[in-house]
Amino acid sequence: MSRYTGPVCRLCRAEGTKLFLKGDRCYTEKCSLNRKNHRPGQHGQRRTKVSEYGLRLREKQKLRRFYGMNESQFRRFYQQATKMAGQTGHNFLQLLERRLDNVVYRMGIGNSRSQARQIVLHGHIMVNGRKVDIPSYLVRQGDRITIAEGSRDVPVIKENVEVAGSRTLPAWLAFDADKYEGSVLMVPDREHIDVPVKEQLVVEFYAR
Ligand code: SF4
Repeated sequence: MSRYTGPVCRLCRAEGTKLFLKGDRCYTEKCSLNRKNHRPGQHGQRRTKVSEYGLRLREKQKLRRFYGMNESQFRRFYQQATKMAGQTGHNFLQLLERRLDNVVYRMGIGNSRSQARQIVLHGHIMVNGRKVDIPSYLVRQGDRITIAEGSRDVPVIKENVEVAGSRTLPAWLAFDADKYEGSVLMVPDREHIDVPVKEQLVVEFYAR
């Protein structure tokens, strides 16, 4: 399945929650959800009864869109989570959160996950001193994430890093804007992952 390339604010309206897909705009009054807080489309304002299946589907779509992944890649991560010890839902969120593009976004090097993905793909990010241009690369505790020396003046990166200090960093990550470097302090726990999703419903969707 290909990646969605339409207007991203429609995705937030479809899920009825902020998915933070549009960078800085998501944190301002201009967020579309502030103006049109109903589902998109001709019948978007109608009330409809949602089935059990529909509830699980919506929760799965919400989580997938939050991380900006296509279905096959998302399902692969889920399969990986089922093979790990412990709760599948928790493992799944942890894997998604450990993706390098997400970490670059969380550190403020990218102002949205899609921009962070581009930054990684273009080879601007190093992990433990080696270039890594794979957005789905999974970081580990102790990893050092650095902006490559030759990339520090790229306008988008420069602008983001200048304001990165004003972003709230999750407790499992650290970022020093002066050194263009961050680190993974620990593997994130559920309390560190501010994703507005009931992961158990996502597990039930795939386990049906
Ligand atoms: Fe979603 Fe951001 Fe658009 Fe608001 S501005 S609807 S949070 S993508």
